[in-house]
Amino acid sequence: MRKRIIAGNWKMNKNVTEAVELATEIKAGHDNSDVDVVVCPPFTDLYAVHQVIKDSPIALGAQDVFWEDKGAYTGQISADMLKSVGCRYVIIGHSERRQYFAETDETVNKKIKKALEYELTPIVCAGELLQEREAGETEMVVERQVRGAFDGVSKADAVDVVIAYEPVWAIGTGKVATPEQAQQVHKFIRDLLAKLYDREFADALRIQYGGSMKPENAAELLTREDIDGGLIGGASLKADSFLGIVNA
Ligand code: PEP
Repeated sequence: MRKRIIAGNWKMNKNVTEAVELATEIKAGHDNSDVDVVVCPPFTDLYAVHQVIKDSPIALGAQDVFWEDKGAYTGQISADMLKSVGCRYVIIGHSERRQYFAETDETVNKKIKKALEYELTPIVCAGELLQEREAGETEMVVERQVRGAFDGVSKADAVDVVIAYEPVWAIGTGKVATPEQAQQVHKFIRDLLAKLYDREFADALRIQYGGSMKPENAAELLTREDIDGGLIGGASLKADSFLGIVNA
């Protein structure tokens, strides 16, 4: 039985005061031990948020990581730095990073390997653009991204990965994939993982859905066989909507 995992991607929102406030509210309202809960604030908030949640079941995640250990890489953040402020998870390959910051399947793969080396759990994002869905290319695109992400990652390491299927046309648009559309791609990804590794591995790996998930639509998505949680953007910025999804 896969334990559900709900992660909040705060993106470039919340200064440190606001982040501490939100984390405090989430901590106060969260009492659902059936679900793994992760919050992913901006880098500048990580340390302060960790101070709030460190003795709670809520885990800390970052929104990106660089693939080198250290050195002259102005503006980058290493896996060691993330560990040192209490991170246990890191989002890798979010579509906004692919779209605006030149993230590719190759850089995603390098970041996954570095995160795993430092025992950070990667939340690896994959998903098609609207034109790719309309052209019938969803499975091809997702397969390329998933194969690229796991390239050269051993089964022993890959067990710690979480995948987030995020159709790009559903992110921040209010257009949620139907439970059938999401389930179909989640199953496709699971079957692909069974080919890349084996069935037991694929059945154990958690696949989140992301894209305009809200308390009102979460239950319907989360009861589908292959949907094991959610990566939440907009609705993670308020404690009541985020916890509404956790409890859905
Ligand atoms: C996201 O950015 O990962 C996301 C799912 O955003 P939203 O929930 O706002 O669509």
